Amino acid sequence: MTPKDVVAFAAENKCQMVDYKFLDFVGIWQHFSTPISEFSEEIFEEGVGFDGSSIRGWQPIHNSDMLIMPDALTAKVDPFVQVPTLSLICNIIDPITREGYTRDPRFVAKKAEAYLKSTGIADTAYFGPEPEFFIFDDVRYASSANESFYSVDSSEGIWNTGREEFPNLGYKPRHKEGYFPCAPTDSLIDLRNEMVQVLQSVGMRIEASHHEVATGGQCEIDMRFDSLVSMGDTLQWFKYIIKNVAIRNGKTVTFMPKPLYGDNGSGMHCHQSLWKDGQNLFAGDGYGGLSKMAMYYIGGIMKHAKALCAFTNPSTNSYKRLVPGFEAPVNLAYSNRNRSASLRIPVTNNPKSKRVEYRTPDPSCNGYLAFSAMLMAGLDGIENKIDPGEPLDKDIYGLSPEELKDIPNVAGTLQEALEALREDHAFLLKGDVFTEDLIEKWIEYKTEAEVNPVRMRPVPLEFALYFDC
Ligand code: GLN
Ligand code: MG
Ligand code: MG
Ligand code: MG
Repeated sequence: MTPKDVVAFAAENKCQMVDYKFLDFVGIWQHFSTPISEFSEEIFEEGVGFDGSSIRGWQPIHNSDMLIMPDALTAKVDPFVQVPTLSLICNIIDPITREGYTRDPRFVAKKAEAYLKSTGIADTAYFGPEPEFFIFDDVRYASSANESFYSVDSSEGIWNTGREEFPNLGYKPRHKEGYFPCAPTDSLIDLRNEMVQVLQSVGMRIEASHHEVATGGQCEIDMRFDSLVSMGDTLQWFKYIIKNVAIRNGKTVTFMPKPLYGDNGSGMHCHQSLWKDGQNLFAGDGYGGLSKMAMYYIGGIMKHAKALCAFTNPSTNSYKRLVPGFEAPVNLAYSNRNRSASLRIPVTNNPKSKRVEYRTPDPSCNGYLAFSAMLMAGLDGIENKIDPGEPLDKDIYGLSPEELKDIPNVAGTLQEALEALREDHAFLLKGDVFTEDLIEKWIEYKTEAEVNPVRMRPVPLEFALYFDC
C-alpha cells in the first residue's frame, strides 16, 4: 500500500481513529491514537511527535522530542478497538537530523536486511518463529502456579503433584503429556481457534495450532515464515492478538519463558534460511541436505551463541527454561531431527523448505533485535567460513558428564549473556546494524532494571531452604 492507498483503505473501513504502534527497546508494543481528522497522506512524510524520554531505555529528558514515521505497508484495521481504527506500525526518527533512531529495534532490523543485501551473499533472510505461550486462569490449572514455588521435584509421578487436588481434575493433562491428547483433555481448542480466526483476519497465514507439552495450558500456534522486518511486525501482531483474545475470554496469556517450575517452558524456536533470486541457498548435498553456506551459518550461530543469548533470551527467567530435561537446549550442537540439540535440521525432502531451526530463543525477546542478531551471527559464519564441527546425533540429555565435557553450553544466566555480549559484539556492528551505543545501553538497562533487582530479592524457596539455619 502507498500512503494514498492507506487513506482510501481507512475510508473504506470507516475508520474513525488512527493508532500508531511501535516496538520499544525492551520489546513491548507501545501506541497512541489520533482522530482520523488529524490523518492525511502527509503524515507519512512529516511524522507525528512523541516524548522519547518516557520510553524505557530511550532518550534523556533534555532530548526527548522524537518522531514516529508510520510505514504504509503495515496498515490494518485493529480488531480489538471498538471504534473502527486504522493501525500503523512506525519507525522512529530524530526530528532534527531526520535520521533513523539507532535504539529503534525496527531500524536495526531494516539495517540488517540492507546489510545482508550489501554483502551479495543473499537478498532475503527468512525467519519462522514458533512462539509458545501459557494460558492461565482456567480453574483446572490454577494450582500449578503455586506449585511452582514450593514443590522441589514435581516430575515424580505422572500427575505432577504429590498432593491431593480438589476438585477432581480428571481431564488435567498428565505431567509432560499435554502434547497432544484431544478434548476434553485439551480444553483450549476453542480458544485457540478463535485466536487463529483473528490472526487470519489481519492477513496472517497460520500453519498449525496445538496444545504443547506442559500441563499448565501451554499452547503453540505457528505462523508462516517471512522476511526479517515483516516477521518482526507479524510477531508483534501475533502476541497482541493472542493476549487480547485470551483477555476477552476471561483468560490471561504469558510469553514468559518459564512460568512453572518442573514443567516445560516456552521457547520460540526460529527457523531460518537465506535466499537469492528465489533460490534457497541452504539446500545442498551435505549433512542433513544442507549447503556449505548453511553449515557456515550454523558455525556463526554456535560461535556467537552466548552473546546472542543477550538478545534471544533476554530475561532473567529465560535461564530457568534453559535447563536439561525440558526439551530446551542447553548445549551448543547441531543435528538432524534431534530436539536435544540447540540447532536442529528439520527433515524435509523439499529443497525449498531446507532450513536451520535454532531452538534456544524464547518469546521474551524483542523480535527485531533477536532476528537481526542471529542473522549477523550467521553471516559472520559465512564470511569467515566458520566450521561448526561434527554433528551430534545423540540424546544430549542422556550423555555422561565425561561425554558432555567438550560440548559448549549456551549462557547460564542473563548476566553471563550480557558479559558475553560485552566481549563479543564486533559481528553485530558490521554495516552499523547494531551500534556501540545500543549495545552499551542494552547491557546497562538489562543489568540495572532486571539482573540486579532479581538478584537482590529473596525468593520463596529460600525460606524453605534457609529459614531454619
Ligand atoms: N517447550 C520446549 C522449549 O522450551 C519445546 C517443545 C517443542 O516444541 N517440542 O523449547
Ligand atoms: Mg513447533
Ligand atoms: Mg513447540
Ligand atoms: Mg520447533
